[in-house]
Amino acid sequence: MKHTPGDYTYSELREGVRALCRQFDSAYWQKVDEERGYPEAFVEALTKAGWLSALIPEEYGGSGLSLAEASVIMEEINHSGGNSGACHGQMYNMGTLVRHGSEEQKRKYLPRIASGKLRLQSMAVTEPTAGTDTTRIQTTAIPKGDRYVVNGQKVWTSRVQHSDLMILLARTTPLADVKKKSEGMSVFIVDLRGAQERGLTVKPIRNMVNHETNELFFDNLDVPAENLIGEEGKGLKYILDGPSAS
Ligand SMILES: Cc1cc2nc3c(=O)[nH]c(=O)nc-3n(C[C@H](O)[C@H](O)[C@H](O)COP(=O)(O)OP(=O)(O)OC[C@H]3O[C@@H](n4cnc5c(N)ncnc54)[C@H](O)[C@@H]3O)c2cc1C
Repeated sequence: MKHTPGDYTYSELREGVRALCRQFDSAYWQKVDEERGYPEAFVEALTKAGWLSALIPEEYGGSGLSLAEASVIMEEINHSGGNSGACHGQMYNMGTLVRHGSEEQKRKYLPRIASGKLRLQSMAVTEPTAGTDTTRIQTTAIPKGDRYVVNGQKVWTSRVQHSDLMILLARTTPLADVKKKSEGMSVFIVDLRGAQERGLTVKPIRNMVNHETNELFFDNLDVPAENLIGEEGKGLKYILDGPSAS
């Protein structure tokens, strides 16, 4: 791959993605669908070729492309018969960490995400009683020493079973105690590895087009305080800031 955004034309991006997608024919996608599987080989190939680290700045091992260029990559995957829904989370979840994570967090996670050692392709925001109105979320993260203790429930959390890390939005200040209802929520990086032995329950939701999505139940899940992204209470703003790498 070339290494600065200016090196690419949209046509070159499309041709590169198309060439990779050609290796995964219709029979491949039909088999994944029939097995209700995850397109592991496809996502692995995209990662190795550097396409999924498009939005990670170059200094952290990504290719530092713009949101428009990342969209071209996703568009071309779908146009070529692939399924960007299996992996687009790896791109858009990055925005919260890239824009609001500390230098230490970025150095810890981004290079390993760019190289494919870690996947961050899951984001837990929606809840059964708080869909569009995110300010009504009821999942809480209560500070306890050097940790936060998470309790509550999420729904429609996609790709958890194929992710090492997850972005979590939880209330750190009760709705009744904040001036603006959009305040008092915080965003965390949750390490999913081993989390199911530490208070996280994952219940898959069967749905159309084989989209891997889940209900999550948090029962006193410990999250280290160092995994808080940005300032406590400003999480909704960070989530809404979107996936731009700028
Ligand atoms: C396949 C799938 C994958 C998903 N993946 C994720 C994920 O990875 N992470 C995650 O956090 N969430 C995920 N979601 C959740 C998705 O973002 C929510 O469905 C969305 O936030 C809407 O919430 P809701 O379904 O509760 O709808 P509701 O909030 O109940 O809304 C229902 C309808 O009413 C409309 N509506 C709501 N409020 C108003 C209003 N005030 N005025 C006018 N119209 C209104 C909405 O536009 C919508 O059409 C996923 C959902 C699906 C189906």
